[in-house]
Amino acid sequence: MNDLTVLYIAGYGRSGSTVLDVLLGGHPRVVSVGELVFLGSDWQSEDRKCACGEPYENCPFWKGLFKDSREVNSLERVVRDIEHRHALPRLLFDSHSEEEKRDYRRRTRKLFEYIAQQGRADLVVDSSKSGRQAAGRFWALKNIAGLDVRVLHLVRDGRAALRSVVEKGSNWALEGHIDEKRWLGTQTTIGWVLANAITWGLGGSLGSDRYHRVKFEDLLRVPEKTLRGIGDFVDVNLGAVIRRVGRDEFFEVGHNVGGNRIRHKQQIHLRKTDTPNPHPWSGLDRHHQILFATLGQWMNQKLGYSW
Ligand SMILES: [Zn+2]
Repeated sequence: MNDLTVLYIAGYGRSGSTVLDVLLGGHPRVVSVGELVFLGSDWQSEDRKCACGEPYENCPFWKGLFKDSREVNSLERVVRDIEHRHALPRLLFDSHSEEEKRDYRRRTRKLFEYIAQQGRADLVVDSSKSGRQAAGRFWALKNIAGLDVRVLHLVRDGRAALRSVVEKGSNWALEGHIDEKRWLGTQTTIGWVLANAITWGLGGSLGSDRYHRVKFEDLLRVPEKTLRGIGDFVDVNLGAVIRRVGRDEFFEVGHNVGGNRIRHKQQIHLRKTDTPNPHPWSGLDRHHQILFATLGQWMNQKLGYSW
């Protein structure tokens, strides 16, 4: 157990974490499992499946994890009570009961040990990020579960993240699922600022050997250099992965949690782009331009994305 390291991909969604997760999982010492925070809720849901296409209880990777559905519910509950954004003040002031913390430690360590063993790996990539459900996750994994956690803060130009949500949102609206495009933009922008602020603040306080920030745009533009930096950060030589990326190879998705969100692609590859978008505002309509300029651009600027 002492040899097990967790590489936690933190930050906001829509930032390319699935691609990065899958690339890293291509190394023999690494097992990547996607958005692990959703394992419990996905397991309980009838229509959410592992990325391999199987329901979790039939998936060859996951099926041995729980004895019964009570264990799934307990993991789901304890994770929510400790990692959710609502619980962040209690987490930071260390005000959960000893029993709650013991329960969390036991269940979480068992989960990560299981994953490392199944994946025959000593580095587990958890890309749950830092949205509402997982705002305190990396902090709790390190400070309550006592795991060796390294935080990889993956950032992306907030205008591109917002655009991605708005476009997806309008697809949902077309399908009749939602009808609140304006609120979606506001919620997304605030969620994006919060996720990055929390990750930067908490992650940064862990020191440079435990916090490393990467731009998704750099992963696309200079993948070799960016991946080498990540490898140095976690003491894994990613040379083999870098060579495969250089040959434009496809990577197996494996048994990622949150399989529905990547639409059950069995393979993924990195599409290299040489130049960053010269007109970052152009993807947003007027309403969302003003919205993001007002609420989000200050943070965007801090992360290195200029007007
Ligand atoms: Zn599976």
